[in-house]
Amino acid sequence: MNEYDSNRIYDLVKKINYKKANKIEDADCYVLNTCHIREKATEKVYHDVGRIKKNFRNKKKPIVIVTGCVAQAEGAILLNKEKYIDAVIGPQSYHEINNAIIKIEKKTKKIDYTDFEVNEKFDTLNQIRNSNSKVSSFITIQEGCDKFCKFCVVPYTRGAEFSRSIEELSDECKKLVDNGSKEITLLGQNVNAYNYNNRRLSDLIYQLSKIENLKRIRYTTSHPIDFTTDLIDAHHKSSKLMPFIHLPVQSGSNKILKDMNRKHNIEEYLEVVSKLKKINSKIKFSSDFIIGYPGETKEDFNETLKLLKEVEFINTYSFIFSPRPGTPAASMKKISDGIAKERLIMFQKTANEIKMNYRKKLFDKKSLVLFENREVNTNKFFGRDEYSNSVIVKSDKNLTATITEVKILSGNLNTLFGETIPRIAKNDFAA
Ligand code: SF4
Repeated sequence: MNEYDSNRIYDLVKKINYKKANKIEDADCYVLNTCHIREKATEKVYHDVGRIKKNFRNKKKPIVIVTGCVAQAEGAILLNKEKYIDAVIGPQSYHEINNAIIKIEKKTKKIDYTDFEVNEKFDTLNQIRNSNSKVSSFITIQEGCDKFCKFCVVPYTRGAEFSRSIEELSDECKKLVDNGSKEITLLGQNVNAYNYNNRRLSDLIYQLSKIENLKRIRYTTSHPIDFTTDLIDAHHKSSKLMPFIHLPVQSGSNKILKDMNRKHNIEEYLEVVSKLKKINSKIKFSSDFIIGYPGETKEDFNETLKLLKEVEFINTYSFIFSPRPGTPAASMKKISDGIAKERLIMFQKTANEIKMNYRKKLFDKKSLVLFENREVNTNKFFGRDEYSNSVIVKSDKNLTATITEVKILSGNLNTLFGETIPRIAKNDFAA
């Protein structure tokens, strides 16, 4: 989502004649678009501002603006502590960036835009063309979250759930496709909670499926309790919807899920997985896991390992619990760092074995790859298969923006390597 936001910020500042600098030292204005999910996010901001200060020690001070979730969560503190920062702008207020820049240019006071003006933000963005021209693009369809998992900052930094209208999304997608996008990933903190005047994510998917040159649709990130029957059905009815779903579970233990306030148990999670596999047997899953959540016992952890093996996730994102200031879990008693680390190592070892076994089964088989770009000065092309696996092939023909059949030859945990399968032209067949 930050990548989408950064692109839109660029679309906005072009209106007041700012353009991308070729070299970092040449910029007159720095926008640090931040994420608060990971540990040490605030320290990173101070570190980056320090680097800018160093570069400009004997020169005119550039404008420095911090946007995103760190600005939202710690805006006033940042402005007080680091005088070099001119403005903080939260994720729901970045449509105000041009006003902020103009005020700073006029040397008015420090600026703090951290209101939740999400409606206003998208009204402004809808008037500005999304200039992204990538083969695979993101589009934010929903923001915010009402779930309040005890470890998560999103409800405090992005605010309540908000969905954009199908019409404006359809319009933005058409423009992206006109610019060359073949694949669009629909983004939201709770993407499957999408609800605009009772029109759900499935309705949006069907609407976007009508765009002729749009070949692939994905969405992320989903919550298990919002997997309604209509969305499950869409995985059967829409051929453009990719059979790969990121479905965070966080833990395999019902006790921990309750302590996290996840609002679902493992049985309900597995029911969603089973319904999806039943409607489309090609579907595979990835997930997020928090290891060593406060109160996690050996038995709870073993439940997580059991779930990992049962669902056979083809990709996982796992982290040791780290408290986010201001969240309820931040005041809970942490388990020992040593034990949490040991469990993370064990978890990742098992996850990697499952992933590698899955990947080996792809060797010598055909995959459909959407190629996104060519590696600079080589004949290697980079693309992704239906499951978002990175694939590299060598080709003398330009494959960018094509969906091409590839035979996978080898691979590791990060990348698959293959060769294109030559198409047999009609007149190559014997009469
Ligand atoms: S559902 Fe996701 S975004 Fe919402 S609070 Fe939980 S982890 Fe955060």
